[in-house]
Amino acid sequence: MFSPSQPFQKRDAFLPFSPPTISEAEIAAVVETLRSDWITTGPQTRQFEQAFTEYIGAQAALALNSCTGALHIALAALGIGAGDEVITTPITFVCSANVIEHVGATPILADVDPETLTIDPQQVAAKITPRTKAIMPVHFAGHPAEMRPLLDLATQHQLAVIEDAAHALPAKYEGQLIGTLGDFTAFSFYATKNLTTAEGGMLTGAPERIAEARLWSLHGMNRDAWKRYSSEGSWYYEVVLPGFKYNMTDIQAALGMVQLARLTDFQARRREIVAHYQAAFGSLDALQVPAERTNIDHAWHLYTLRLNLDQLRITRAQFIEELKARNIATSVHFIPIHLHPYYRDRYGWQPEDFPTAYAEYQRLVSLPLHPRLSDSDVADVINAVYDVVAAFRR
Ligand SMILES: *Cc1c(COP(=O)(O)O)cnc(C)c1O
Repeated sequence: MFSPSQPFQKRDAFLPFSPPTISEAEIAAVVETLRSDWITTGPQTRQFEQAFTEYIGAQAALALNSCTGALHIALAALGIGAGDEVITTPITFVCSANVIEHVGATPILADVDPETLTIDPQQVAAKITPRTKAIMPVHFAGHPAEMRPLLDLATQHQLAVIEDAAHALPAKYEGQLIGTLGDFTAFSFYATKNLTTAEGGMLTGAPERIAEARLWSLHGMNRDAWKRYSSEGSWYYEVVLPGFKYNMTDIQAALGMVQLARLTDFQARRREIVAHYQAAFGSLDALQVPAERTNIDHAWHLYTLRLNLDQLRITRAQFIEELKARNIATSVHFIPIHLHPYYRDRYGWQPEDFPTAYAEYQRLVSLPLHPRLSDSDVADVINAVYDVVAAFRR
């Protein structure tokens, strides 16, 4: 473990927040695909779906161009639309709420648990009405939401569970991998995520549900192009519903296959870094370190500190500026849904309507966490945080 150096020394180069971890193997796989005669959805995409299904132990998987698209077609495939309500969390990326709007349903927010910042099942229970059709928990930062009570509520009220697992590859709840629990689980392979295909996503679920989602993901056509253009294919297809255009390309899938093979190593490095952070920051009164409950395995997508602002003379925004001045990038996850002007104005939401989300948002700051961080990068982050805390403590 690191002990902070005295006096503080600023690192030379700016430390980026979350660059992708791409090796020559990914580059070679992409180039090979580009040199092949099939670059969009085809054999590589099917292989990636198969490998991902096996990795998660999911029933079936559908590769897509984003997690946002995956969430959208999960709602569409379940027939959720106008007049329906979907309960989600204010502490998420805005697409979780946007897709509910896209299908014409109404997003209902339920406040978060202050320890994990995942949706609070008791708050969810209080928001269920006869119009509720689904619950959309988000496994914030890679810490699974409290799934048992959420699944129980879903059974009791006949609701679907659509999990936003953008951060939760791989994570476990009570020994079960995320991706095997709800009706649908959506993963993200965006550039910053634990596994990246630049842009991309994966939807897991039961085979018949995934088959329905597959139709929605490609124009509602009952045969995909790869099959149509292969030797056993036919020119004929039928459109059976007004689908979207959310398919993954073979270029992305080739990249994803290599990333999936490296994921175990990526996760081991993330856990090492987190162990250093937890040991270094756990003893500072000015900071609250992230929780890791005993019934879960954390995917550690994000390392989110919370500032104990009563111990500091600066705000969260100033804390971020001070770290930036020390060449350390940070981010904030997330600006709560109900504070964004569109949602605030459309639903008349006040900051205090979701008091835990609002209070915690004001003291959240995410530190760099990715497999490319060297031990000396990690020491630089720790030293910079210590220096800021020392300079501005009350
Ligand atoms: C990144 C992210 C998404 C969106 O993923 P895309 O693949 O970019 O669509 C959804 N939800 C959360 C919580 C995210 O962090």
